Amino acid sequence: MEENERFLFVAGRLCLDFVNTEVLQAGQRVSLLSTGEDLLAWLGSAKLPPSALSAPLKEGLILRGALRSLAEALSQGQVAPHGTVAVINDVLQRSPGFSRIEPVAGEPGRYAEQTIASVTEPVHLLAPIARDAAALLCHGDPSLVRQCENPQCILFFYDTTKNHGRRWCRMTACGNRAKAAAHYRRVKDRAPHA
Ligand SMILES: [Zn+2]
Repeated sequence: MEENERFLFVAGRLCLDFVNTEVLQAGQRVSLLSTGEDLLAWLGSAKLPPSALSAPLKEGLILRGALRSLAEALSQGQVAPHGTVAVINDVLQRSPGFSRIEPVAGEPGRYAEQTIASVTEPVHLLAPIARDAAALLCHGDPSLVRQCENPQCILFFYDTTKNHGRRWCRMTACGNRAKAAAHYRRVKDRAPHA
């Protein structure tokens, strides 16, 4: 898990980290991607290859909206809404590239598939996010997409813990707050009435 001052990378999946560029602040939903500059900064923070292209802000926000609907559906045990799949496919379709396989270092006999993408148009910058969403639906376990249990939090994550018992986006922010609230309730219930 990694946290920098500006963006959160706590989801364990790129497509969900992208959804998490919308946060709840004082009960209001706030977008951390207001400008193209913000989007380029996020792509840089996500360690995607740098590019001199302009930011595909409009397409980025459409993709983010679709991925939020997807995350909401999957975290509630529903199937991917048709419209979200169409948006993912639109980005994939517009992003030329080819796959190749490379041996995995230190693991003889194992190979990993890599996508060599050509990045010549702004929308291509979104392809890694769309590809991650596609990989989640095709090869991942959609039932492991969870929303943070803090009612004051709208962040999503992919629960890769061994017993699949992860409940919070971040223990420091949401887990401890919930524990403190539960402790306060217990103490209050035990306290004699004045
Ligand atoms: Zn949270």
